Amino acid sequence: MKQEFYEKLSKIVRKEQILEEEPMKKHTTFRIGGPAEYLILPQTTEEIADVIKLCRQEEIPWYIVGNGSNLLVADEGVRGVVIQMLRNFNQIQVEGCQIRMQAGAQNAAVAKRALDASLTGFEFAAGIPGTIGGAVVMNAGAYGGEMKDILKEVTVLDPNGMIRTIPAEELELGYRTSIIARKGYVVLEA
Ligand SMILES: Cc1cc2nc3c(=O)[nH]c(=O)nc-3n(C[C@H](O)[C@H](O)[C@H](O)COP(=O)(O)OP(=O)(O)OC[C@H]3O[C@@H](n4cnc5c(N)ncnc54)[C@H](O)[C@@H]3O)c2cc1C
Repeated sequence: MKQEFYEKLSKIVRKEQILEEEPMKKHTTFRIGGPAEYLILPQTTEEIADVIKLCRQEEIPWYIVGNGSNLLVADEGVRGVVIQMLRNFNQIQVEGCQIRMQAGAQNAAVAKRALDASLTGFEFAAGIPGTIGGAVVMNAGAYGGEMKDILKEVTVLDPNGMIRTIPAEELELGYRTSIIARKGYVVLEA
Protein backbone atom coordinates (compact mmCIF):
# COMPACT_ATOMS: atom_id res chain seq x y z
CA MET A 1 0.00 0.00 0.00
CA LYS A 2 2.76 2.44 1.06
CA GLN A 3 4.93 1.38 -1.89
CA GLU A 4 1.97 1.77 -4.24
CA PHE A 5 1.34 5.34 -3.03
CA TYR A 6 5.03 6.18 -3.39
CA GLU A 7 4.99 4.89 -6.97
CA LYS A 8 1.97 7.07 -7.75
CA LEU A 9 3.68 10.11 -6.20
CA SER A 10 6.81 9.47 -8.21
CA LYS A 11 4.79 9.61 -11.43
CA ILE A 12 3.92 13.23 -10.54
CA VAL A 13 7.23 14.51 -9.12
CA ARG A 14 10.78 13.24 -9.50
CA LYS A 15 12.07 10.95 -6.75
CA GLU A 16 14.50 13.69 -5.61
CA GLN A 17 11.43 15.81 -4.82
CA ILE A 18 10.01 13.20 -2.42
CA LEU A 19 11.62 13.00 1.01
CA GLU A 20 10.41 10.06 3.08
CA GLU A 21 10.21 10.23 6.88
CA GLU A 22 11.74 13.70 6.69
CA PRO A 23 12.23 15.35 10.12
CA MET A 24 10.00 18.43 10.22
CA LYS A 25 12.40 20.00 12.71
CA LYS A 26 14.54 20.76 9.65
CA HIS A 27 11.67 22.76 8.17
CA THR A 28 10.32 24.78 11.11
CA THR A 29 11.84 27.95 12.57
CA PHE A 30 11.59 26.59 16.10
CA ARG A 31 13.45 23.44 14.98
CA ILE A 32 10.90 21.06 16.43
CA GLY A 33 8.73 18.36 14.89
CA GLY A 34 8.95 14.66 14.12
CA PRO A 35 9.04 13.08 10.65
CA ALA A 36 6.65 13.79 7.81
CA GLU A 37 5.76 10.53 6.07
CA TYR A 38 6.33 12.30 2.73
CA LEU A 39 7.68 15.80 2.25
CA ILE A 40 7.15 16.92 -1.34
CA LEU A 41 9.14 19.75 -2.92
CA PRO A 42 7.03 20.78 -5.94
CA GLN A 43 8.40 22.88 -8.78
CA THR A 44 5.24 23.64 -10.74
CA THR A 45 1.57 24.43 -10.25
CA GLU A 46 0.69 21.18 -12.04
CA GLU A 47 2.76 19.16 -9.58
CA ILE A 48 1.04 20.82 -6.61
CA ALA A 49 -2.42 20.26 -8.13
CA ASP A 50 -1.69 16.64 -9.06
CA VAL A 51 -0.20 15.72 -5.66
CA ILE A 52 -3.26 17.16 -3.89
CA LYS A 53 -5.60 15.39 -6.35
CA LEU A 54 -3.83 12.08 -5.67
CA CYS A 55 -4.06 12.62 -1.90
CA ARG A 56 -7.79 13.31 -2.21
CA GLN A 57 -8.34 10.20 -4.34
CA GLU A 58 -6.36 8.02 -1.91
CA GLU A 59 -7.80 9.73 1.19
CA ILE A 60 -4.32 10.63 2.39
CA PRO A 61 -4.10 13.78 4.57
CA TRP A 62 -2.05 16.62 3.10
CA TYR A 63 -0.70 19.90 4.41
CA ILE A 64 0.99 22.98 3.00
CA VAL A 65 4.11 24.45 4.55
CA GLY A 66 5.86 27.65 3.57
CA ASN A 67 8.90 28.44 5.70
CA GLY A 68 7.45 26.83 8.85
CA SER A 69 7.86 30.05 10.87
CA ASN A 70 4.31 29.94 12.20
CA LEU A 71 4.12 26.20 12.80
CA LEU A 72 4.73 23.88 15.72
CA VAL A 73 4.89 20.23 14.64
CA ALA A 74 4.40 17.45 17.22
CA ASP A 75 7.22 15.02 18.05
CA GLU A 76 5.20 12.13 16.58
CA GLY A 77 5.39 13.88 13.22
CA VAL A 78 2.88 14.00 10.40
CA ARG A 79 1.17 11.07 8.67
CA GLY A 80 0.47 11.76 5.03
CA VAL A 81 1.93 14.35 2.71
CA VAL A 82 3.48 17.71 3.50
CA ILE A 83 3.90 19.96 0.46
CA GLN A 84 6.71 22.44 1.05
CA MET A 85 6.59 25.52 -1.15
CA LEU A 86 9.78 27.24 0.00
CA ARG A 87 12.47 25.18 -1.70
CA ASN A 88 11.49 24.97 -5.38
CA PHE A 89 8.45 27.19 -5.89
CA ASN A 90 9.90 30.61 -5.23
CA GLN A 91 10.24 32.64 -8.45
CA ILE A 92 10.02 36.42 -8.20
CA GLN A 93 9.36 38.55 -11.28
CA VAL A 94 9.36 42.33 -11.42
CA GLU A 95 6.75 43.55 -13.91
CA GLY A 96 6.93 47.34 -14.19
CA CYS A 97 5.95 48.67 -10.78
CA GLN A 98 4.44 45.38 -9.61
CA ILE A 99 6.00 42.13 -8.46
CA ARG A 100 4.67 38.65 -9.25
CA MET A 101 5.81 36.04 -6.72
CA GLN A 102 5.35 32.31 -6.39
CA ALA A 103 4.06 31.26 -2.98
CA GLY A 104 7.38 29.87 -1.77
CA ALA A 105 9.31 33.12 -2.30
CA GLN A 106 10.69 34.41 0.98
CA ASN A 107 9.64 37.86 2.16
CA ALA A 108 13.27 38.89 2.56
CA ALA A 109 14.05 37.90 -1.04
CA VAL A 110 11.01 39.82 -2.32
CA ALA A 111 12.07 42.89 -0.32
CA LYS A 112 15.55 42.67 -1.85
CA ARG A 113 14.10 42.46 -5.37
CA ALA A 114 11.83 45.43 -4.64
CA LEU A 115 14.84 47.40 -3.42
CA ASP A 116 16.88 46.48 -6.50
CA ALA A 117 13.98 47.64 -8.71
CA SER A 118 13.52 50.87 -6.68
CA LEU A 119 9.98 49.83 -5.73
CA THR A 120 8.53 50.89 -2.42
CA GLY A 121 5.77 49.36 -0.26
CA PHE A 122 7.18 45.98 0.80
CA GLU A 123 9.72 47.26 3.36
CA PHE A 124 7.54 46.29 6.36
CA ALA A 125 7.73 42.58 5.45
CA ALA A 126 11.49 42.31 4.97
CA GLY A 127 12.04 40.90 8.47
CA ILE A 128 9.01 38.58 8.66
CA PRO A 129 10.66 35.17 8.43
CA GLY A 130 8.14 33.47 6.13
CA THR A 131 7.04 32.98 2.54
CA ILE A 132 4.59 34.95 0.44
CA GLY A 133 2.04 32.12 0.78
CA GLY A 134 2.26 32.24 4.58
CA ALA A 135 2.12 36.04 4.54
CA VAL A 136 -0.99 36.14 2.34
CA VAL A 137 -2.85 33.46 4.36
CA MET A 138 -2.56 35.40 7.59
CA ASN A 139 -2.20 38.94 6.25
CA ALA A 140 1.24 39.25 7.82
CA GLY A 141 2.24 42.66 9.03
CA ALA A 142 4.84 44.68 10.89
CA TYR A 143 5.79 48.31 11.55
CA GLY A 144 2.28 49.51 10.69
CA GLY A 145 2.22 47.81 7.28
CA GLU A 146 0.38 44.66 6.27
CA MET A 147 -0.11 42.55 3.15
CA LYS A 148 -3.55 44.09 2.71
CA ASP A 149 -1.92 47.45 1.90
CA ILE A 150 0.05 46.19 -1.08
CA LEU A 151 -1.56 43.02 -2.38
CA LYS A 152 -3.33 43.28 -5.74
CA GLU A 153 -4.41 39.72 -6.49
CA VAL A 154 -3.70 36.14 -5.58
CA THR A 155 -3.80 32.97 -7.65
CA VAL A 156 -5.04 29.96 -5.71
CA LEU A 157 -5.89 26.33 -6.20
CA ASP A 158 -9.41 25.80 -4.91
CA PRO A 159 -10.74 22.62 -3.26
CA ASN A 160 -12.12 21.45 -6.62
CA GLY A 161 -8.66 21.60 -8.16
CA MET A 162 -9.50 24.76 -10.15
CA ILE A 163 -6.98 27.59 -10.47
CA ARG A 164 -8.57 30.94 -9.67
CA THR A 165 -7.25 34.48 -9.53
CA ILE A 166 -8.89 36.48 -6.76
CA PRO A 167 -8.62 40.27 -6.24
CA ALA A 168 -7.18 41.18 -2.83
CA GLU A 169 -10.43 42.98 -1.87
CA GLU A 170 -12.25 39.64 -1.95
CA LEU A 171 -9.83 37.89 0.43
CA GLU A 172 -11.31 39.46 3.59
CA LEU A 173 -7.84 40.35 4.81
CA GLY A 174 -8.14 41.26 8.49
CA TYR A 175 -5.87 41.16 11.52
CA ARG A 176 -3.73 38.06 10.83
CA THR A 177 -6.59 36.46 8.93
CA SER A 178 -8.10 35.95 5.47
CA ILE A 179 -10.63 33.65 3.81
CA ILE A 180 -7.86 31.47 2.37
CA ALA A 181 -7.66 28.86 5.13
CA ARG A 182 -11.45 28.87 5.63
CA LYS A 183 -12.04 28.19 1.94
CA GLY A 184 -9.30 25.58 1.73
CA TYR A 185 -7.34 27.48 -0.93
CA VAL A 186 -3.69 26.85 -1.68
CA VAL A 187 -1.86 30.06 -2.55
CA LEU A 188 0.15 29.62 -5.76
CA GLU A 189 1.09 33.19 -6.67
CA ALA A 190 0.57 36.74 -5.54
C1 LIG B 1 10.94 35.32 14.97
C2 LIG B 1 9.60 35.48 14.31
C3 LIG B 1 9.14 36.76 14.01
C4 LIG B 1 7.90 36.93 13.40
N1 LIG B 1 7.47 38.20 13.13
C5 LIG B 1 6.28 38.39 12.55
C6 LIG B 1 5.80 39.72 12.26
O1 LIG B 1 6.46 40.71 12.52
N2 LIG B 1 4.59 39.83 11.64
C7 LIG B 1 3.82 38.74 11.32
O2 LIG B 1 2.74 38.92 10.74
N3 LIG B 1 4.24 37.49 11.60
C8 LIG B 1 5.43 37.28 12.20
N4 LIG B 1 5.86 36.00 12.48
C9 LIG B 1 5.00 34.87 12.17
C10 LIG B 1 5.30 34.20 10.80
O3 LIG B 1 6.57 34.52 10.33
C11 LIG B 1 4.28 34.65 9.76
O4 LIG B 1 3.02 34.16 10.15
C12 LIG B 1 4.58 34.16 8.34
O5 LIG B 1 3.71 34.85 7.46
C13 LIG B 1 4.38 32.65 8.18
O6 LIG B 1 4.85 32.30 6.90
P1 LIG B 1 5.46 30.85 6.61
O7 LIG B 1 5.78 30.77 5.17
O8 LIG B 1 6.56 30.54 7.55
O9 LIG B 1 4.20 29.94 6.93
P2 LIG B 1 4.18 28.52 7.66
O10 LIG B 1 4.57 28.68 9.08
O11 LIG B 1 4.92 27.52 6.85
O12 LIG B 1 2.63 28.20 7.57
C14 LIG B 1 1.70 28.96 8.35
C15 LIG B 1 0.29 28.60 7.90
O13 LIG B 1 0.08 29.07 6.57
C16 LIG B 1 -0.29 28.00 5.71
N5 LIG B 1 0.34 28.23 4.40
C17 LIG B 1 1.65 28.52 4.16
N6 LIG B 1 1.85 28.67 2.84
C18 LIG B 1 0.64 28.47 2.23
C19 LIG B 1 0.19 28.48 0.88
N7 LIG B 1 1.01 28.72 -0.14
N8 LIG B 1 -1.14 28.24 0.65
C20 LIG B 1 -1.99 27.97 1.66
N9 LIG B 1 -1.62 27.93 2.96
C21 LIG B 1 -0.33 28.18 3.24
C22 LIG B 1 0.23 26.72 6.37
O14 LIG B 1 -0.52 25.60 5.98
C23 LIG B 1 0.03 27.07 7.85
O15 LIG B 1 -1.31 26.85 8.22
C24 LIG B 1 7.10 35.81 13.10
C25 LIG B 1 7.58 34.52 13.38
C26 LIG B 1 8.81 34.35 13.98
C27 LIG B 1 9.30 32.97 14.27
